[in-house]
Formats: sequence, C-alpha cells, structure tokens
Amino acid sequence: MRKIWWNWDIRMRWHWGFSMTEESFVQNCIKEIDAAGNYEIEGIVIWGFLRDRHGGINAAKHVVEYAGEKGINIYPGVGIDDYGGVYYDGTHCYSLDNYLNEHPDAQALRKDGTPDTHRWPPNDLTARKKACPANVDVISFYKESLEWLVETFSLKGIQIEQGDSGLCYCDRCMKKIRREVPGIRSSASDAAERIPEVVKDIIIKKPGFTIISETYAGLTNEAASAIEPLLSKYPEEIILSWQLYNGPTPYDHAGKFLIEPGCGIRRKHGCAALRTNSDVFYGEIDDRANIEKALKLSAEAGLDMTYIYGEYPDVWPVTAGNYRTWAEMAR
Ligand SMILES: [Zn+2]
Repeated sequence: MRKIWWNWDIRMRWHWGFSMTEESFVQNCIKEIDAAGNYEIEGIVIWGFLRDRHGGINAAKHVVEYAGEKGINIYPGVGIDDYGGVYYDGTHCYSLDNYLNEHPDAQALRKDGTPDTHRWPPNDLTARKKACPANVDVISFYKESLEWLVETFSLKGIQIEQGDSGLCYCDRCMKKIRREVPGIRSSASDAAERIPEVVKDIIIKKPGFTIISETYAGLTNEAASAIEPLLSKYPEEIILSWQLYNGPTPYDHAGKFLIEPGCGIRRKHGCAALRTNSDVFYGEIDDRANIEKALKLSAEAGLDMTYIYGEYPDVWPVTAGNYRTWAEMAR
C-alpha cells in the first residue's frame, strides 16, 4: 500500500511551538520529513500548509524543497467551500476568506440565515469563512488557486476536501436535492459535483499527479450504498479516501471500525484513513492491535493506499510502535 502521514500544521509535535511561528513550522516539518523514510512513507499531507503566521510562501517552499531532497512528497490540504481554499490563513489573494470578503453573496449560510464559518482544529482561535456549495462562480477561483499552488511549489499531489462542518441553508441549497450519507455532516453530492470539476484541468495537465479526496465515510454497507450512485462522477485519477477506523478515546475505549467485511468499492484505487494517536483522540495511545486489524480489513476491501496521523514524533516510543505496525501491515 502507498503510505501517507496526515497532519494539521498546528497539531504537529515534532519540534517546539505547534507551528505558530515560521521556525517552529519549518522545524516540525523537517523532523517529520527526516523520519518519514524509516516507514517508507511517500508523502506528507499538511493542512494549513500556507499561513501568514508561520512564514507563508517562503516557509512552505523551504519545506517542499527539503522534502524533495529526501525523496518525500508534500501533499497540501486543499479546501473547497471550507478549510480556507489553497491559502489557509492570511492576506493572500488565494485565501477563501479573502475571496468571500470580496464576494459576500458566495458565503454559506447557517440555519438562522447568518454567514457561516468554521474553526478547526480547537487550538486555532480564528475561524475560516465557508462558501455556498450552490455557488458556481467560486469554482473558477478554486481552479485558478489550485493551478497557482501546483505550479508555485512544483507539487506532485494534494489532498482535497469539500468540508465536513454542516450544510448551507441558503435558498438555492435548500432547493437542491442533496444526497447525504448517514453520520456525515456534509453532502456527498455537493462534494461529487464540485471536487471533480476543480481538479479536472490538473488531471489533464499533470499525468500521475496524486489527488486524494476525502469522502468522510466509512466502508459500511449503509455508507457505500449512499455514495455508490455518485462514484461515477469521480474519475479514476482521484483516489477516494475512506475514514474506516477511529481510535479509542477516554470516552470510548474500544475504537470504532467503520468497515464491514465484503463491503468493497469498485474503484481502481482507494485510501484507508486510520484516525488514531492524535490530539483528536486525546493524545498518544498504544493502538497497534486495532491498526493491524484495520489494515487487514482494508487490504481485503481492495484499498491500495493508507494514511495515519503523523503529527506525533517517533521519539515517543508508543507512537513509534504504532507507526511500525502500520508500516509493516501496509507493506
Ligand atoms: Zn448555499
């Protein structure tokens, strides 16, 4: 299986300072890149790749260039309608916040009619504006931003998401027939309409470019039957990612498997997202047995890529054990 480490910039703990400064961000990335080769990792997903507060374009270039020297790819997180666009947080013209400041009619609305925002992860005290998934004008902005991102950093791939923080309640969205997947807070049909359109030109221009697209769904019979009618909208060049395992927390000691035996998806490629051992799950935890089980089920389902959070350093012995088990099972 192809192996990816997945990160929020400001949750990375490889160095001091949670990437709140340029030095901290670059050092967090460098230490993670240095370790990636030990686990045969091909690429590192970074959400919040571009933020003014941690050095913007210069810091991001430094990271991509360093990764390239070590044979590791950086796959920035690209948000569509949510998660900031390609420039997550700052004054840059390809930040979604700035587009929506100039085009307030394109902003998503909450149930009470007020403009919608989304703040994540919890240690980010600033919220990003969300765009309305019925707005088609913003699609050209996403395409132009993405082309700039790919060219500026000579990228070999991205991860792309349409958002998982709730629906838009504007009049146009309320009239749309939206397909929702049980347990997912976004609309699977909004993502299927918009993500393939945004990446269409990159697929043609850059053969072999890696595009990982989040479904937010597990591989259960219920989720698969809800998404199945939309799959034909995604060209095979887009690798759909399935969130099929969530790790244990102090409130749920078992962890949660969202993969049912025999529930495969008829696609050439697919990514098994293993979400464990991160701040989201309240910290470091020895999760080797569940990681092993999740990857066995993923291989049986025909998935040929996997990601796990790479936010914690492997000088932490429990984390190192999780990474080793994951890498061995994914071999
Ligand atoms: Zn809307």
